[in-house]
Amino acid sequence: MSQSQETLSNLLQETRRFPPPADLAASANVKADAYERAAEDRLGFWAEQADRLAWTKRWDDVLDWSKPPFAKWFVGGELNVAYNCVDRHVEAGRGEKVAFHWEGEPGDSRTLTYADLQREVSRAANALLELGVRKGDRVAIYLPMIPELPISMLACARIGATHSVVFGGFSAEALRTRIDDAQAKLVITADGGFRRGKPSDLKGIVDEAVAQTPTIEHVLVVRRTGEQVAENERDLWWHDVVERQSDVHTAEPMDSEHPLYILYTSGTTGKPKGILHTSGGYLTQCAYTHWAVFDLKPETDVYWCSADIGWVTGHSYIVYGPLANGSTSVIYEGTPDTPNKGRWWDIIQKYKVSIFYTAPTAIRTFMKWGDDIPAQYDLSSLRVLGSVGEPINPEAYVWYRRNIGADRTPVVDTWWQTETGAIMISPLPGVTEGKPGAAMRPLPGIAADVVDDQGRSVPDGGGGFMVVREPWPGMLRTIWGDDERYVKTYWSRFEGLYFAGDGAKKDADGDMWLLGRVDDVMLVSGHNISTTEVESALVSHPKVAESAVVGATDPVTGQAIVAFVIPRGDAGDVEGEDFLRELRDHVAKTLGPIAKPRQIMIVPELPKTRSGKIMRRLLRDVAENRSIGDVTTLADSTVMDLISEKLPAAK
Ligand code: ATP
Ligand code: MG
Repeated sequence: MSQSQETLSNLLQETRRFPPPADLAASANVKADAYERAAEDRLGFWAEQADRLAWTKRWDDVLDWSKPPFAKWFVGGELNVAYNCVDRHVEAGRGEKVAFHWEGEPGDSRTLTYADLQREVSRAANALLELGVRKGDRVAIYLPMIPELPISMLACARIGATHSVVFGGFSAEALRTRIDDAQAKLVITADGGFRRGKPSDLKGIVDEAVAQTPTIEHVLVVRRTGEQVAENERDLWWHDVVERQSDVHTAEPMDSEHPLYILYTSGTTGKPKGILHTSGGYLTQCAYTHWAVFDLKPETDVYWCSADIGWVTGHSYIVYGPLANGSTSVIYEGTPDTPNKGRWWDIIQKYKVSIFYTAPTAIRTFMKWGDDIPAQYDLSSLRVLGSVGEPINPEAYVWYRRNIGADRTPVVDTWWQTETGAIMISPLPGVTEGKPGAAMRPLPGIAADVVDDQGRSVPDGGGGFMVVREPWPGMLRTIWGDDERYVKTYWSRFEGLYFAGDGAKKDADGDMWLLGRVDDVMLVSGHNISTTEVESALVSHPKVAESAVVGATDPVTGQAIVAFVIPRGDAGDVEGEDFLRELRDHVAKTLGPIAKPRQIMIVPELPKTRSGKIMRRLLRDVAENRSIGDVTTLADSTVMDLISEKLPAAK
């Protein structure tokens, strides 16, 4: 097998297949003909989807692509995003339907109907206006996972202020740079939130950040934990300012292209980028994909996405998509192991969750904790499971389906990015025969493809770069304040194509498999090998829970494969040379001798971003004996010390 530099080897052979359950297929929202219909008239298809929303003024043109790569969708149309997410459901007589079942970590809970949400959002919108926030202003939101978080976002959308949600685990410095970049006028925060059984501090971090941000006029503080906080002149309590407001507010129509929010990427590969999303096209794609990919039946489903709203998954699939569709969702404040490792399954049992959406990092953690934990709960309400954030290893997919989905529920592996705004590639649960580890096909209306170094579509069986050929409604409009970086980062690698930065392959059936970041691809003896495939081979060993693989410079092979492995909880003795040899042989047997790691290190943890993605660039520093690079987006900065301690003195 000779390989040129530009193709990715296709090593992993996965033959397990999971057809859709017959009853789900029979009543599915989307049937197989949707692909064809959308391909015949892509813009017509998206116009049909935009009709899911209520527009105060209809658009003149579906798409303006006269100045690529700057797109305008539903040009001339007007709508209000918050009205679409809240008021119209109340007006349609569904005010008593539950929008959110909120579950606090200490065990407190709150139920918000659509009518409740309308009152709360209206009060918050009136408060923002009183504080001088106007259409076009930016508002930074630094809140834990409490109802005031979606309420604040929707209040901004209602008055046309652009929100910038910053994940509550970020440092003062990270918050400060995001506030400065967006020139935000107001910060909405809380005294803290509950994590791992303890109140976390948020207000102290905000105080530190805004001490150096000239644009911030007020800090609006929600009381959540009751912990003592400093009270500065510009601080205002939410319960003083918001609660006394009128609960009536008329949502203002916005242009379809009005900036809805800025969100910074998770920073897995480097400095985060301020991604700008606008209104009409974004909401259209969120609503359609949430309905299609999860086969959402808003009348009967209870939906739970376990992501933090501080990430794009939470924006699109806790707030905007589910609310636009009038669904009933769960929001959980805390960590999965508080008060015990069954907390998530307890929540699914309690609220009879029927659709569950989480990340591979969480699934691998549950694998490590053991099958017996979810087995103690009644999870029979579940009917569709989703995954997002990283490639899902086939073994993790099968574990998820078997242990959480009773070997009955389809698993939809959804590929997308902060930049794409909404899901792009995914199986459809009533149509697609699932393959563990494959994101399968671009959704109807999405022109994604895999191309070689020259931008040519690769044939079935080939590997290369993930791209999108045509604009899509939820696409980012630019990087906030930096059009040039937008063009350079996404639209310059290949003429006329959106470059996602991910490697991918097409299998013999033309189905797509995501293979991790292009930067992470290893070149071993002339073969381009994806880190994802080697990691998946390691995770398929019964004693391995999680692994991360990097390519390290090697005098003989160019790069050599170095693997970091976390054993499963019940793996027994994993310290000896025998175990390492067993793992190396297992990889060679699964993928071929070319993929055999030069070195395997057993580690207690892996470096991850706060959104749970493995940061391979730091492990590459370890593998190549360099000092460790920028760790500011790392979830736990002590992890790198733990790993360095494990390093053998000499190779
Ligand atoms: P930065 O761009 O700053 O490095 P990031 O890319 O981690 O940060 P996100 O937008 O949160 O920030 O993540 C998108 C990336 O996550 C995708 O480019 C892809 O690498 C990965 N990803 C998401 N979902 C999937 C999936 N289902 N399969 C494979 N990879 C996925
Ligand atoms: Mg990215």
